[in-house]
Amino acid sequence: MPENYKKAITSEIFEYITKASKLLGLESYVIGGFVRDFLLKRDSGAKDIDIVTVGSGIELAKHVANLLPNKPEVQVFKTYGTAMLRYKEVEVEFVGARKESYARESRNPIVIEGTLQDDQNRRDFTINAMALSLNEGSFGDLLDPFNGMEDLANGIIKTPLDPDITYSDDPLRMMRAIRFATQLNFTIEENSLNAITKNADRIDIITRERIVDELHKILLSAKPSIGFKLLEKTHLLGRFLPELTALKGVEEEKGQSHKDNFYHTLQVVDNISEKTENLWLRWTALLHDIGKAPTKRFDKKIGWTFHGHEFVGSKMVYKLFKRLKMPLNEKMKYVQKLVLLSSRPVILAEDVTDSAVRRLIFDAGEDIEDLMTHCEADITTQNAKKRKQYLNNFRMVREKIADVEERDQVRNFQPPITGELIMKTFNLKPCRQIGTLKEAIKEAILEGEIKNDYEEAYQFMLKKAKEIGM
Ligand code: ATP
Repeated sequence: MPENYKKAITSEIFEYITKASKLLGLESYVIGGFVRDFLLKRDSGAKDIDIVTVGSGIELAKHVANLLPNKPEVQVFKTYGTAMLRYKEVEVEFVGARKESYARESRNPIVIEGTLQDDQNRRDFTINAMALSLNEGSFGDLLDPFNGMEDLANGIIKTPLDPDITYSDDPLRMMRAIRFATQLNFTIEENSLNAITKNADRIDIITRERIVDELHKILLSAKPSIGFKLLEKTHLLGRFLPELTALKGVEEEKGQSHKDNFYHTLQVVDNISEKTENLWLRWTALLHDIGKAPTKRFDKKIGWTFHGHEFVGSKMVYKLFKRLKMPLNEKMKYVQKLVLLSSRPVILAEDVTDSAVRRLIFDAGEDIEDLMTHCEADITTQNAKKRKQYLNNFRMVREKIADVEERDQVRNFQPPITGELIMKTFNLKPCRQIGTLKEAIKEAILEGEIKNDYEEAYQFMLKKAKEIGM
């Protein structure tokens, strides 16, 4: 007797699917993530339900829509033979049970109609191949041909069929395996892990967008390092993020070594993930040290240095985003800016003058808190005493920031004197002197020579203009 999980499918959408299937004389099942997450008691946040029917998924979707009181629109994806309708915020996807075969150069299979078992065979993992019957007489029965229940209980990621073929057929599955291992804190079974390593170069046929989509899911997990360690171990990482693998390793010269910046980076990403859900701040943590590989030098007097790595790193962010077809918009600029500024608060911690704090607030603007959060996550020393001391230093920097902010309001610095006013006062046409004056006023404010207000800035402008012979 199969186990029964009627209690998973109490939503009335399932009743409509059962009714429509009966009308069409089709067998239908709910399959994949919905079943997995119910059995895991996990709220995946993903709001979709996958229905497989032994027949036409498109026909079934249309019939279901017709029975539903609000008659929702059915979106048909002819090329894939699938259809989708929305029911109370939930996306319900319909597909006809199918058999797949693959050509080497593409992840898009040749598809023919098949049985439920054929369809379960083509699924990526045993835990994703479990189905619940939506048919009268067996409603709620679990169909689990690969013992996905046991893998779920033991936390195992395993392919239903030969992993070598499964991953080679559709290399995106390698990313999915690592993503699920990270999200669920599961172990990838050894044969699978070997097959991923063997097929790592096949990832090159997958579009950058899909790879990034999985990377984002890994980065948004509770402990992203699990995924990045697996990506590195299976040699996938170097194929799309060579900047990170370049950070691996420790070199020693004259008895001096530096830390392994790859593992340090992963620790920083885990640390920041405890503090924020902001994907782009997590990207910042991931990329904050990428400039260290190209700038690494050994200096006889001071030992290992990475001089200017923040600047080099921020330039690399642009190239990396472009290569991965990620947005080159304000998100990218945010990551660039934080990478560039990533060491500034550390320097401040040693010598915290008002003007240095003002400059930092000016440069970081609205993102100053995020920058501090990153810096705190960047503390990875195992030495408890040092850790406490560093945290304490940053606490003082934060206090100083709040203090200076309250007095000077330089966060969204708008110069109190505009170029137009300068032109009017001195009866000038647009020229270089205007820029010189504006810059001098900004510097005087940041240095604390004058207050950030109109009157003081105006007087300063008159004085400065005289000095430079205007
Ligand atoms: P999540 O919503 O968290 O991404 P999911 O398992 O629902 O999890 P989907 O991408 O919505 O993920 O896929 C739905 C189901 O389709 C999966 O559970 C799996 O059975 C199957 N599937 C998805 N992608 C693949 C693939 N590349 N190869 C084989 N089966 C797949």
